[in-house]
Amino acid sequence: MKKVVKFGGSSLASAEQFKKVGEIIRADKERKFVVPSAPGKRGPDDTKVTDMLYACYALAEDGKDFKAELKAIRERYQEIIDGLQLQLSLDDEFKVIEKNFKAKAGSDYAASRGEYLNGIVMAAYLGYTFVDAAEVVLFDEAGEFDAETTNRRLRERLQDMESAVVPGFYGAYADGRVKTFSRGGSDITGSIVARAIKANVYENWTDVSGFLIADPRIIYKPEGIETITYKELRELSYMGATVLHEDAIFPVRREGIPINIRNTNAPEDNGTWIVESTCQKPKYVITGIAGKKGFCSVNIDKDMMNAEIGFGRKVLQAFEENGISFEHVPSGIDTMTVFVHQDEFMHKEQQVVSAIHRLAEPDHIEIEGDLALIAVVGRGMKSTRGTAGRIFSALAHANVNVKMIDQGSSELNIIIGVANSDFESAIKAIYDIFVRIQL
Ligand code: ASP
Repeated sequence: MKKVVKFGGSSLASAEQFKKVGEIIRADKERKFVVPSAPGKRGPDDTKVTDMLYACYALAEDGKDFKAELKAIRERYQEIIDGLQLQLSLDDEFKVIEKNFKAKAGSDYAASRGEYLNGIVMAAYLGYTFVDAAEVVLFDEAGEFDAETTNRRLRERLQDMESAVVPGFYGAYADGRVKTFSRGGSDITGSIVARAIKANVYENWTDVSGFLIADPRIIYKPEGIETITYKELRELSYMGATVLHEDAIFPVRREGIPINIRNTNAPEDNGTWIVESTCQKPKYVITGIAGKKGFCSVNIDKDMMNAEIGFGRKVLQAFEENGISFEHVPSGIDTMTVFVHQDEFMHKEQQVVSAIHRLAEPDHIEIEGDLALIAVVGRGMKSTRGTAGRIFSALAHANVNVKMIDQGSSELNIIIGVANSDFESAIKAIYDIFVRIQL
């Protein structure tokens, strides 16, 4: 059995946190491949090392003095090294970083140093081999992650190793220039390493005991999710549930490797299991609720629309021409509605409206802003009658006006559109009806 263990920034923010991580790793001899993030916040008012690096590099790029900022970053690592009583010096590393900052090596290079240095510290602490992600995680010329070359390269490199530390968040182009994933991207690296070594489990250690059914900022102490499928998770993370980077499931999904989200500060908790499929019955009909505010609906009316071949394509072409992606397209007999992100759409609305008129000749177009979309997700919905009915009666009781309903053909989710101002009460009502009041 081989496990890949990824630790997030808050799990590695200080020497104290590093010690907890050390205990977790030593408690299980299968935890041989480690992916660290950069040191995160030690408290609510602290700054993540990644953010310190971005700020420091911004000064360097402007030709300003950045010594004090770089020194503060260095102190973060020194505190960890001293607290762990390691005989390790990062002097040479910081000389190189300073030189490269002066040479304007780029903000991706700058940000990646957080994980790079933490990887060196982690490898020294555990006595594992350090593998620089720039040598094994590759991006193509267009800046897209090159999954297959990476998988081959990483597999070759790791296959005969007893144990290794591969820093998260970055890789490189073929010419060696460093490139990062988007923020939170160490989760993706963990998944890539798990795929490459064909791990049995990808453990992702963070500061919460897994996924919650709903956002704790909206629901007081929501229950946790024990098991969730990749597909359900994809729906939920797309709709705003954080914890895991939304792209992190793709590499492990190819190999059917489960992800276990665990809490570094409560290692006894089982956390959440993310799996391909399971016969385990979910505790509730719904697995989770997530949502986002800030959508706009563009309602297009045209008599006899249902009989006009190509109408939908023409409407969507108007959005495409203006570089706007759409979220949902519910339709009626003579109406079609396109949901878009308000901030993307706002500046181009009149161009889109005229393009729709030009391309599709509708009778009438109406735009409504300040809408929220809520996804109610659950593999249990397929086999349960009355789910939609329960959602809508709960919303009616909570005085929430439903503006849109869209049930995916997979019967895995129901998307509901409401006014931004009804967002919280809608989520509360749905949570209560499925979780608090069990029929
Ligand atoms: N350190 C990076 C960030 O703050 C990447 C990560 O933590 O996954 O986004």
